[in-house]
Amino acid sequence: PGRWVKAMQILKEFEEKCGTPILKLRQVADAMIVEMHAGLASEGGSKLKMLISYVDNLPTGDEEGLFYALDLGGTNFRVLRVQLGGRTRGIVNQQFEEVSIPPSRMTGTSDALFDYVAATLAKFVAQEGSVFKPSPGRQRELGFTFSFPVVQSSIASGTLLKWTKGFSIDDAVGQDVVAELAKAMERRGLDMRIAALVNDTVGTLAGGRYNNNNVVASVILGTGSNAAYVECAHAIPKWHGLLPKSGQMVINMEWGNFRSSHLPLTEYDHALDAESLNPGEQIYEKVISGMYLGEIVRRVLCRMAEEAAFFGDTVPPKLKEPFVLGTPVMSSMHRDTSPDLKVVASNLKDILEISNTSLNMRKAIVELCNIVATRGARLSAAGVLAILKKMGRDTVKEGEKQKTAIAMDGGLYEHYTEYRKCFEGTLNELLGEEVSKTIMIEHSNDGSGIGAALLAASQSQYL
Ligand code: ADP
Ligand code: MG
Repeated sequence: PGRWVKAMQILKEFEEKCGTPILKLRQVADAMIVEMHAGLASEGGSKLKMLISYVDNLPTGDEEGLFYALDLGGTNFRVLRVQLGGRTRGIVNQQFEEVSIPPSRMTGTSDALFDYVAATLAKFVAQEGSVFKPSPGRQRELGFTFSFPVVQSSIASGTLLKWTKGFSIDDAVGQDVVAELAKAMERRGLDMRIAALVNDTVGTLAGGRYNNNNVVASVILGTGSNAAYVECAHAIPKWHGLLPKSGQMVINMEWGNFRSSHLPLTEYDHALDAESLNPGEQIYEKVISGMYLGEIVRRVLCRMAEEAAFFGDTVPPKLKEPFVLGTPVMSSMHRDTSPDLKVVASNLKDILEISNTSLNMRKAIVELCNIVATRGARLSAAGVLAILKKMGRDTVKEGEKQKTAIAMDGGLYEHYTEYRKCFEGTLNELLGEEVSKTIMIEHSNDGSGIGAALLAASQSQYL
């Protein structure tokens, strides 16, 4: 067959393997629920860690005072201060600063990473304006958002299980990340108490609840992906402590590590995984989250170039570079509605150094982006269905007025409109019209920072 036909065969075959009919999504959700039960039953009982957050009370709105938060977990990290004014005044003032993490700090030593974090935090504190006044004689208190899997032993301690999302610092694994940060703060001469260690999903849930009392779960779709939800304490067999008074416990699912034979995985996914920093792990994350979507597109394009000379006789050298095609570029190509697809053309030229593409080639590339984004978005909707089903909120009972809100955050959800629309459409499709009306998706813009500060407030030593 000719080149074009061969290239279209590769694309078609990929599309077929990425199929996510509703029935399959229901199987994925049910498989996830099975794993949720197993993860709650015993430590190490499942690929889903179902980590106990030690958050058994969510913000009420009464929180008051000046609190800090630090959000470490992606390409950027953020420091934040927030002045909480209690029930009547709410959030009186907030300021944040975002700093990118140098790649060398993501794969070096624990001290190098935490020294960098502590230095940034110290600078932030030193530049404090007069609007933010810590009460005299009072130690500053911090909520530490750390979005990697951690087994906590209390609200303010926990050991790192493993890194994800491109971080790989061997000597930090197995360490208490709160102690690591506290030591770095001490080396820096920064006097601050780490009052709460929270996963970003847990922070997002707390921040979401502060704004909307119906929030019972949170999902992050950013560089990585994860979810948390409010579980009944008595439904956590592996919990051997006293039952919390609230009867509830927030669970950090670490859903990125979910895997199931029902997931539609292709040879490209297997290759991506095998060549990743964490082979065999975070399989669900690798098909739904922002770190990987563009890379999957690149891999398929690469195959089309190699086996069907899609871009001509030679394979464009840039195309062979892992991760050159980021998800933001993918999404800008996907949303290109110009008649001649000029955004696709300019991205191909700028990022991949490919020029002279035909309109049909560019159309095929848009279609490829659509296939990858659609699979990711629909599978993440299946994950949300699993949570709703586990909480018994996937049905409406006669006469009941139950409302359920899910706090969503992450750059992928926020900026990739086609992905978000597909996610929401699929969730409605899975739930049906009646139930969909009771479920609200709340976009929480960086709610995890505020959430961590709120949890620090509820753990304050001055209460
Ligand atoms: P993190 O997950 O690192 O804490 P964010 O929630 O801000 O940070 O998410 C950043 C991720 O969101 C990026 O890695 C990228 O994958 C994705 N993203 C950011 N902007 C866009 C965009 N315009 N289109 C698609 N994806 C985007
Ligand atoms: Mg984040």
